[in-house]
Amino acid sequence: MPPAPLPSADDPLDVRIAELLADERYLGHPLRDLLEAMIERMGQQLTRLERITTISDRYQSSAREQMCHLSRRYDQQIRKLEKAIRISDRYQAMLADLNKALQEASTHDQLTGLPNRRLMADRLLQEDHRTLREGTTYSLLAIDVDRFKGINDRFGHEVGDKVLVALARVFRNSLRDYDACARWGGEEFLALLAGADLATAQLVAQRLIEAVRGLQVDVPDAVVEPRVSIGVAEHRSGERYNDVYRRADAALLIAKQNGRDRFLVAEDPRGDAAPPPQALC
Ligand code: GH3
Ligand code: MG
Ligand code: MG
Repeated sequence: MPPAPLPSADDPLDVRIAELLADERYLGHPLRDLLEAMIERMGQQLTRLERITTISDRYQSSAREQMCHLSRRYDQQIRKLEKAIRISDRYQAMLADLNKALQEASTHDQLTGLPNRRLMADRLLQEDHRTLREGTTYSLLAIDVDRFKGINDRFGHEVGDKVLVALARVFRNSLRDYDACARWGGEEFLALLAGADLATAQLVAQRLIEAVRGLQVDVPDAVVEPRVSIGVAEHRSGERYNDVYRRADAALLIAKQNGRDRFLVAEDPRGDAAPPPQALC
């Protein structure tokens, strides 16, 4: 048992009790022993109270420390989470870019940037559906570069590529926004003229021939002046785009045979309304 605390000199009651207990006149007085025992018990209770207070203080400060520690860890986790979100945002943006690039690469020709055959086939299918649904029409222009092999042979493949890029630009600039021109393969292009009948398609073909005639591609020590031939066909009731393309391609072949640098209208397979193949320019 720890010793009873000394009476406080500040407390007049403590002082008075201490004086009474020290007074020899009261030695052996029954109340003196009781008072002494009471003082001792109070001292013990005071000591216990102080111990409880100390423990409580220690507990509170440890709880405070724990709270601070938890709060620091929470802040750290939040910062980590924010960083993860930023990385994830960047990652998602990169994925979206990559997706876009892949989509572009799978639907467009790398050299000329024009839609490729796959994308054009989708577009043509849609156009076929539209003709069925809305009774609209469309025309196709099968375009082939004249004697392109000669350009490659004379100036090299790179110059040939440059010519293809220049031609693609001419086609793009000469067509309306809602038309489409694709690189169909090698040095062949296919233009889809939405809603265009044969008369309009012939005007467009003529415009393309003339635009190409005005094209000059500068290469080292020379200027290449490419020419193209075009087969023209308008969609006819019941036809699929493959049928229209076949007729346009057949007309293109005859345009080549007739001397190139011209367009020719496709023959109607049923032999009615459409004029027979003939050079129109
Ligand atoms: P025609 O007037 O009868 O069409 O004759 P052409 O020489 O244009 O036709 P041909 O089919 O004999 O030759 C086409 C050439 O196009 C052969 C091929 O090497 C070339 N070619 C195809 N794709 C490319 C390409 O991406 N770049 C280059 N530079 N040449 C290509
Ligand atoms: Mg050719
Ligand atoms: Mg060809």
